[in-house]
Amino acid sequence: MNKINYIIAAVLAVILITVFAVVAFTDEPGNDNSDIEEATNEKSENEDSSTDDESPDNSSVSKDGSEDNHSSGDGSEPDESSEVSDPSEETTSEPDTSETEPVIETWEYDGLSVRHLFTHCLIAWPELAPSGAYRDCVTVSEWNSILQQLYDNDFVLIDINYMYETYTDTDGTQKIRIKDKITVPKGKKPVVISIDDVVYDPKKTNQGMVDKLVVKNGELWAYTLFKDGTEDYSQDNEIFPILESFIKEHPDFSYKNARCTLCLTGFCGILGYRTAPSFADQGIDYMAERNKAAVVVDWLKKHGYSFASHSYAHGMMGSFSAERMEEDCKQWKDEVASLVGETCIFVYPYGDWPKYDTRQHKILLEYGFKFFCGTSIYNYLANGFPGKGASVGNAFCDRFTMAGTILEKAAEKNDSGVYDKYKRMSEYFDPFEVYDNENRPVKLVRPDDL
Ligand SMILES: [Zn+2]
Repeated sequence: MNKINYIIAAVLAVILITVFAVVAFTDEPGNDNSDIEEATNEKSENEDSSTDDESPDNSSVSKDGSEDNHSSGDGSEPDESSEVSDPSEETTSEPDTSETEPVIETWEYDGLSVRHLFTHCLIAWPELAPSGAYRDCVTVSEWNSILQQLYDNDFVLIDINYMYETYTDTDGTQKIRIKDKITVPKGKKPVVISIDDVVYDPKKTNQGMVDKLVVKNGELWAYTLFKDGTEDYSQDNEIFPILESFIKEHPDFSYKNARCTLCLTGFCGILGYRTAPSFADQGIDYMAERNKAAVVVDWLKKHGYSFASHSYAHGMMGSFSAERMEEDCKQWKDEVASLVGETCIFVYPYGDWPKYDTRQHKILLEYGFKFFCGTSIYNYLANGFPGKGASVGNAFCDRFTMAGTILEKAAEKNDSGVYDKYKRMSEYFDPFEVYDNENRPVKLVRPDDL
């Protein structure tokens, strides 16, 4: 009996000690467990949102791009390919949008009042630029000033693909329409910015533009090789790196991680890389160039940039035959969409488009283009084909041109003696403050009566 009592007492003692031990243990490091759970949740949220930031067609191209890059390693341009480094690491350490988004107070902005501005690549080296370049482009100081003034005037950058929604028409075709209301931070006006011809045509080398975009140490740089053999890597003389630093300083200028849209042709490659098979005739390894371009495309997509077709050949599309249109679309799809992904955005070169319901128009639709863009300063934006009404589906958007030719018109009066163009520009910025009198061959002076 004593033995049994002893055993019962011993068992009770063991149970009590165990209970105490469990309570003591869970009191202290028990928090660690919850920390681990929280950390896991945070991580998965970040992962989710960073995936969301990418457009759906990113993953295959990005993956292919980086794999290709690793396998290419031909060493012809070691600076770019070997230091390209891990854009993926760069993005995963940037969960800023996912953390700030939930606390932003928003409002509903009229979808058909969204503004769309466009320009070309910058005049990076004014001393090398022919006067013609000044007509179509803006300079570095002008771009800096434009960004600051857009920000000061309460514009917020949105991605062009955020403007519309898709729907299936009664005949089963997929169409788009501009959203009635666009959600943006309260007090802000949405603006889309697109940049045309981001291809760095080799015929224009050493004429004031940079040569190409490159990724080095996980960041985007503009690269230029001068005639004397010196090389330059800069982050303060091209649209995209400048936009990156501006958004770093003013994160609220970009909504949902938006950047701008690059409008690409294909005939001379993209982003400064000679990716077209036709370059094989000049002894250029265009497949190696494609691998290098893919690295930059990957970086741009991960950082919120999107892409549009600007046609393959940059022709006057209003006078294309159906055969030429078909060939142009096919070449763009094969050589450019294969690098940047499919897009439904089509930006007409020179703002010249084929007539409604012609075979040429239908070919563009068959290739998946649904959102067409022209150029003007009148901010035309509508569902449907211009003049044909919303019922035909798809959308059309004019883009306000930012270029020397337009800025110079700020000092012109119309027939009624009104500075009408100045008024249009001053919605975005004061052209007299933006205009780069120091570098431009033509000087612009604010009239006394303005
Ligand atoms: Zn163009």
